[in-house]
Amino acid sequence: MRLLVVEDDRDLNRQIVAALEQAGYVVDKAFDGEEGQFLGETEPYDAVILDLGLPVRDGSSVLNAWREAGKTMPVLILTARDRWSDKVNAFDSGADDYVTKPFHIEEILARVRALLRRATGHAKSELVCGPVVLDTKNGRVTVDGNPVRLTSHEYRLIAYLMHHQGRIISRSEIIEHLYDQDFDRDSNTIEVFVGRIRKKLGIDIIETVRGLGYRLELPQAG
Ligand code: CA
Repeated sequence: MRLLVVEDDRDLNRQIVAALEQAGYVVDKAFDGEEGQFLGETEPYDAVILDLGLPVRDGSSVLNAWREAGKTMPVLILTARDRWSDKVNAFDSGADDYVTKPFHIEEILARVRALLRRATGHAKSELVCGPVVLDTKNGRVTVDGNPVRLTSHEYRLIAYLMHHQGRIISRSEIIEHLYDQDFDRDSNTIEVFVGRIRKKLGIDIIETVRGLGYRLELPQAG
């Protein structure tokens, strides 16, 4: 899952990005409204964390612009202001949730998890595909209850597929949602990762759909 953090306070930006990366997300960052707006409009993020008080262009006008451009990714607003009207305006501009500063980083992580699973149609923090369970809370994958050790890239890939179960996901979509904008993208590596994940899970829930991509599904019986 690929996220964008738009926050002009550099320390806070770094702190949020580090916590999200630690939790297994790939994260891009922006430090003013203009840069943030551009990234949000041009890159396919699974969710965005957006500060309201930003230089160049404020957060609610950035959000308005995204929504007017048809961007539907979930947006979590950060606000230092307690004024209820700021929150109302943010929701009316298309925000999905908010956190008031100062906050505990755990609250951001929990709200991001909730936004991601709601956006992909899941009600619980545990995503299940047959014997395979991905606990988005602690970033762990188990098969029949046994923990599977995955690298961060493998985790990101299986997490993306688990969130989008049953849907065909193209390689280019995987690449766009697994790597940040500066990463040297090579679609052949995806096949390598899929191969490794299949081996580690010991059950083939990742179907290769020839010419189209991959689909996560339980193998058909018989
Ligand atoms: Ca700010």
